[in-house]
Parts: sequence; C-alpha cells; structure tokens
Amino acid sequence: MTENKVCIKSLTMPKLEEFLVSMGEPKYRAKQIFKWLSQNAKSFDEMSDISKKLREKLNEACYINDVKIVSKQVSKLDGTIKYLFELQDGNCIETVLMQYEHGNSICISTQAGCKMGCAFCASFDKGRTRNLTPAEIYDQILSAQYDSGRKVSNIVLMGTGEPLDNYDNVIDFLRIISDENGVNIGMRHISLSTCGIVPKIYELAKLKLQLTLSISLHCPINEIRSTIMPINKSYNVETLIKACKDYFKTTGRRISFEYAMIDGKTDSKECADKLIEFFKGFPAHMNLIPLNHVEGSPLEPTPMKKIKQFQNYLIKNGINTTIRRSLGGDISASCGQLRKKYIEGESR
Ligand code: SAH
Repeated sequence: MTENKVCIKSLTMPKLEEFLVSMGEPKYRAKQIFKWLSQNAKSFDEMSDISKKLREKLNEACYINDVKIVSKQVSKLDGTIKYLFELQDGNCIETVLMQYEHGNSICISTQAGCKMGCAFCASFDKGRTRNLTPAEIYDQILSAQYDSGRKVSNIVLMGTGEPLDNYDNVIDFLRIISDENGVNIGMRHISLSTCGIVPKIYELAKLKLQLTLSISLHCPINEIRSTIMPINKSYNVETLIKACKDYFKTTGRRISFEYAMIDGKTDSKECADKLIEFFKGFPAHMNLIPLNHVEGSPLEPTPMKKIKQFQNYLIKNGINTTIRRSLGGDISASCGQLRKKYIEGESR
C-alpha cells in the first residue's frame, strides 16, 4: 500500500513546500496540509480546504502514516498511561504519557529496539533494532493526545532507542513538532537523552537548538562505566565530559545528567568525588534515578537513604542535584522498563 510512496508526515515544512512545488503546486498549500496532519488527519479526503484534484494527486503520490494502539495501561497511582503502538510493518513501540502539575509530558521512542546494550536497561534488542521515521516518532504524540484527550506540553526523547543513533530522523521530527504551523511545541519544552555518542553531540551543538540535552552518565569512572555501558569503550568519560563542556560553550544551554543509582556500582564515595572533580564550577544538573529493577537483571537499586546521602554530598560540594520521581510504577512505565514483556510474542 505504501510502497514507493512519499511518507508525507515525515516531511518538515521546507521539505513539504519543496515537494508541493515539485508537483506544480503553490508553496502555501504546504501550510494547509501540514496543519491537517498535525490535527491527526487520517486521509487526504478530510482536507476540505484543498481541491479534490490535488487530494487525488496527493493520494497517488503519498501516504499518511498511522500507528495503531495495541494496548493501553493506565496507572492507578498517578494516571500515567503506557501505550503500545503497532507500526505499519508490525513492529511495536512504547510511549508513556505522564501528568505533572505543570502539564502533560510524553516520553517517546526513537527506535524499535536499541543497539546500545546498557546492562541495566530492558530495551536492548541488537539484531532487530530499526530506526523510526520522523512520522513514526511524531505519531506517538498525535495518537496519545487524540486518545487521551490530554494536550502534550513537554516531550522527552527517553523511550526506547538511542536518539543520536537515528540522528537525521530525530532532527526532522524536532523541526516538525516545533513548527509554528503545526503542534508547535517549543524546543525549550523538549529534552533529548543520549548515552553519549560524542561525534553526534558535536553535530547537534552546531544546530544551536534550544532543547535540553540530557546525558546518561550513570558513572564517572571508566572501569565501572564500561562494564554497564558498552558505548564507554568507544567514547570514555573524559571525552564525553569534554563534549558536554564544548556543547555548553557553543549553545549556552545547561546540560542535564542522568545518574542511575546502582547498588555497589555507581553509588560509592569515590564516584561522588569524581563527579565533583569533573563538574565543579560547571552549570550541570545531576538527576539521580533510583535504578528500576528489570526482570532477570542482577543489578539492584541503591537504598533511598543512601541516595539522599549521595545527593546531599554533591549539593554540599556545589553540584545541583535532584532525585527523579518515578511515575507509573504499577505498569512498568519507568525508565529502562519499556519493551520487554511483549517482545517474545512479536512476530518479527
Ligand atoms: N538511549 C538514550 C535514551 C534512553 S533514555 C539514553 O541512553 O539516554 C532512558 C534513560 O533511562 C536513560 O538515562 C537510561 O540510561 C535510563 N535507564 C535505562 N534503564 C534504566 C533502569 N533500569 N533504571 C533507571 N534508569 C534506566
């Protein structure tokens, strides 16, 4: 059905304009179509301010991507909703919609599976990982908004997948979602999280986007970090932190660091001292995440009392440190728990 057709929802405004002009249409049509797509239009026939002739032409040349809700779990604790979406090729991805006082945040996936292989994360699926298209990333937001009736105000690229391993599609998605002609969520309301693909951090810096870059640091000691995050063997802690400091210099944007508290691995005084040595005087925000236990993993979370001590020690030494509140605990919707249960039943 979609073979050889253009995925129109994957096109940024400039690309959509270019596409319409190449069809002999005026540029302004792009705005109308872009708006319809942002309102979750499922067919060209819905686009009532566009001539029938153009609608037919579009139907011939393009398709409108859609994702299907396979399952939906609503947390009784805090109203968090976890969606399992099926893509057009049968692959499945997860998306989590969270309610906070300041609005609705959505945690979206950027790949089906992940190649990075972090020891504490359930998303690893080396052989079958594939990049999501901009439309497939975009559709998680459109569908969740439409289904829940909640308007999304913040986006975190912290679901399954490594955003910087799907760089071009993620950047196009960011352009689409922040475009004033569509959903229009400002970059300042978007966080992108990476395990530390250093060359891509430099590439991203050049774009000077106003988003928040989050780094999954988890440990400042190479010998330990390499055992839990294989990416550290390619780009070690020093290289990564240098990239972060350069990123800040270029963009002026403060960086957030995610730090999973893993019992006996990342919670030692030695780790805290190393963090202080690296970050003293640098405007970093350290976000401690009590490790979420993943079924079958030997790694355990640090007890909360010790996490608080770790936090106080960092704060006392000038590092802005918070402890992440975990939502959706009853539906396995927390960090690192996505994409585990259904995977064995998946047909491809
Ligand atoms: N690949 C990106 C995006 C995933 S974001 C990245 O690595 O940043 C998901 C965040 O949750 C990352 O910081 C990840 O390291 C963290 N995470 C994964 N598994 C976790 C677990 N079991 N407990 C706590 N945090 C976890």
